[in-house]
Amino acid sequence: MPDELSSSDRANRSVICAGDSFARRHIGISDEEQATMLAEIGYSTLDQLIDAAVPKSLRDSARLNLPAAASEAEVLAELRQLAALNARGEPMIGLGYHGTITPGVIRRNVLESPAWYTAYTPYQSEISQGRLEALINFQTMVGDLTGLPTANASLLDEGTAVAEAVAVMRRTVRGHADRVVIDADCLPQTIAVVRTRCEAVGVDVIVADLSSGLPVDDFFGVVLQFPGASGVVRDHADVARAARDRGAMVTVAADLLALTLLRPPGEWGADIAVGSTQRFGVPLGYGGPHAGYMAVRAGLERTLPGRLVGVSIDATGAPAYRLALQTREQHIRRDKATSNICTAQVLLAVIASMYAVYHGADGLRGIARRVHRRAVQLAAALRTAAGVGLVHDAFFDTLLVRAPGRARAIVADARRQGVLLRLVDDDHVGISCSETTTGAHLSTVFTAFGVAPGVGDPSAPDALPAGLSRTSDFLTHPVFHRYRSETAMLRYLRRLSDRDYALDRGMIPLGSCTMKLNATTEMEPISFAGFADVHPFAPAADGYARLVADLEGWLAEITGYAKVSIQPNAGSQGEFAGLLAIRAYHRSRGEADRDVCLIPASAHGTNAASAVLAGMRVVVVASRADGTVDLDDLRAKCEEHSHRLAAIMVTYPSTHGVYEEGITELCDIVHAHGGQVYVDGANLNALLGLARPGWFGGDVSHLNLHKTFCIPHGGGGPGVGPVAVAAHLAPFLPSHPLHPDPGRRAGVGPVSAAPFGSAGILPISWAYVRLMSGDGLVAATRAAVLSANYIAARLAPHFPILYTGAAGLVAHECILDLRPLTKATGVTVDDVAKRLIDYGFHAPTMSFPVPGTLMVEPTESEDLAELDRFCAAMIAIRSEIEQVANGDWTVESSPLRGAPHTAQCLVGEWDRPYSRQQAVYPAGVTGDKYWPPVARIDQSYGDRNLACSCPPPDAYAS
Ligand SMILES: *Cc1c(COP(=O)(O)O)cnc(C)c1O
Repeated sequence: MPDELSSSDRANRSVICAGDSFARRHIGISDEEQATMLAEIGYSTLDQLIDAAVPKSLRDSARLNLPAAASEAEVLAELRQLAALNARGEPMIGLGYHGTITPGVIRRNVLESPAWYTAYTPYQSEISQGRLEALINFQTMVGDLTGLPTANASLLDEGTAVAEAVAVMRRTVRGHADRVVIDADCLPQTIAVVRTRCEAVGVDVIVADLSSGLPVDDFFGVVLQFPGASGVVRDHADVARAARDRGAMVTVAADLLALTLLRPPGEWGADIAVGSTQRFGVPLGYGGPHAGYMAVRAGLERTLPGRLVGVSIDATGAPAYRLALQTREQHIRRDKATSNICTAQVLLAVIASMYAVYHGADGLRGIARRVHRRAVQLAAALRTAAGVGLVHDAFFDTLLVRAPGRARAIVADARRQGVLLRLVDDDHVGISCSETTTGAHLSTVFTAFGVAPGVGDPSAPDALPAGLSRTSDFLTHPVFHRYRSETAMLRYLRRLSDRDYALDRGMIPLGSCTMKLNATTEMEPISFAGFADVHPFAPAADGYARLVADLEGWLAEITGYAKVSIQPNAGSQGEFAGLLAIRAYHRSRGEADRDVCLIPASAHGTNAASAVLAGMRVVVVASRADGTVDLDDLRAKCEEHSHRLAAIMVTYPSTHGVYEEGITELCDIVHAHGGQVYVDGANLNALLGLARPGWFGGDVSHLNLHKTFCIPHGGGGPGVGPVAVAAHLAPFLPSHPLHPDPGRRAGVGPVSAAPFGSAGILPISWAYVRLMSGDGLVAATRAAVLSANYIAARLAPHFPILYTGAAGLVAHECILDLRPLTKATGVTVDDVAKRLIDYGFHAPTMSFPVPGTLMVEPTESEDLAELDRFCAAMIAIRSEIEQVANGDWTVESSPLRGAPHTAQCLVGEWDRPYSRQQAVYPAGVTGDKYWPPVARIDQSYGDRNLACSCPPPDAYAS
């Protein structure tokens, strides 16, 4: 009843946001709560707090020029209209992207379930057992199908997976020329992504037709596609053997559905298999997000990029899952990094693995056989057509059809009738069959080729080469047999998600990760058929074109840059794209020698890793005791490397959660030496609407739409990492050989397999901006800063706040320093993180950017009750630490070390020096508590006994 608000209420309301209904639901704090919080911090208005926290020199007084806020109903209507603008058509284009049917039980209960999509990356394994099991199913599925023993838990897409495989081969093989050979029948976008990545680090790429043997030049590795982009199924065993005889390694990019019928690469000489799992139930989404995969032969497991889920044991000896071989990621090792992948594609990997659980080996084989029979039927009919021929006789799902001079007309005709074919050139058409291909689609293709419907021998023999039939079993583990009824599947999904702690249970206060609301209205459109079922190379996707143009424009406005590309499909890829732009810019000016990238000591690991990938040398800039970048050291490093200086990568606000006063000066110093300033925008949630990196000195930034712009984390992906650049860098944004705009096909090259990366989830961020408008976004930033400062103020008496800026304030997150307590009592950050589980919380970010600390980021979406519940838990834990300090408990026998406590630990003998109540219902915990499914997990046991596929059923016997 807004009419009944008093005028002072209204004035108050307008401080947080101007009465808009969605923004008020996105932001957790009410006006009364705001007043309470400000009082706690010691300010009387939010304006005063913001003015005191954010340096004046950065503040931007201009209003964001964004459309006025729309209601949730209006936004859904607008997105329906945009979706309808995408020309639909049955995707028979192939090239690594295929029609697929997401089983309804998986779509609704995984893709559309907040229990799955709002989870974070499973670093806290005790509260992530559900998604870890789903991921180990994924690894088992990939390993089985490829015939290789160890697979990781997803990569970003097929193109980047191949590029990662090239990097693994290059590191592993010694004493060969810095050259890789790629079969010409690999997917064109894969070849382009590999070229981009190789060019940056000086690896020579030879693209050659390997059907006639290997080139004479020396090389460290070979990449093959199986089946080929042309559809041909060729026996590559001889090429693989010849390559290995010459001391090189072999990567095979393989289609997992084809591998249910064909001999897997692991059985004919591949060291590495990579590819996409998209056609296992993951919607096309105009190119992504989809889970890429990588599997390796024995001996290479420690070179795998990305995350690897392994089996270990918990404190009671029971098997439990956790991320293996990494405190965070084994490959992101600053300047020794071998890959920059951080956010991967967990949600999509979960969907693909569940597709395999749902169908089992028989079901997958059945789908593959139906797909193959469609292609055989098509081939039989086309063979009868006048003036048409098949280029290859051995194929799985894809035909390459010769139709001299007629290809364009045929493709256009099929398109008019609702079927999308691939125009290879004026004389050739590519046709791919998939799970969604029907007899009616085939009839359309027949008509386009001038073949009478019903022609073609339906009993024509299979077209798979006899010697390449699969004989080995796969998916024999019980998990791929047990859940075939929908009831069983539904309960399996529910059981797994119940084990996990996601945003639908409570706050996830992870610093640097911005775990904010992922609103239902933002999520709904990704399931609209007009967005979900569009092939990345489909023509006339006008709705997507507008969506991308809007979003790129809005992000340019928000960041103060000239141009944005949404192609990068994670923050790390945005960093890489930004650095490539810097590199290309220096080269365009004849300064190819500029290869030094300055990185502050506190930077996120991906920064240095991306610099290495971009062929730059990392030089670390020291921090001062107060956590700020040491400008004297910066000056010295700039002097030292002046002529070689390419860039500085700096996060703002810093990874210490502070608005540093010196940022404009920092930019000036680097610019004076001819360097470019890369502002890592992962912390934009503290800047949006208050300051623009493009205005305070940045030349380029990436943003994380999966942080600031509401794309859910999905348990560790998907993400979108747009790169934003000033005008002078705009010509060097990512290009793509299959971009719908011919003007953007040539250039720096692609950093993702699809021209618009993870286009399918862009409606989420589009909806967020549209719902919030400029005022709502500013209000969100202000609320995020308020919440972080509130937590800092409440907890400071109990845990020192490590770094603060002017006026003793933090930005949107704060670091709690536990080191003095650890030193005095032996209680570690790990103990506190695990004890928080007993109190019903996901831990804050542990030991980043400073070892031994916790970094808390509440975001604007939490209400005061939840913030207070968190503070109360931290304060209660502090008093438990006090009891250790007092000698009431030893640290080993304390509830901190005993945490987390399972329901099972309450049964039987209780020999701990604290009560059962203290263990599981400490102060403030109610009957609705979250119960962790396992006790503390032994990290090193799992690394000593590396096991990365589903454990045998008897592992659970005890
Ligand atoms: C999250 C983050 C990144 C990496 O983003 P991904 O999407 O995980 O690749 C880079 N820098 C900072 C400061 C971050 O917080």
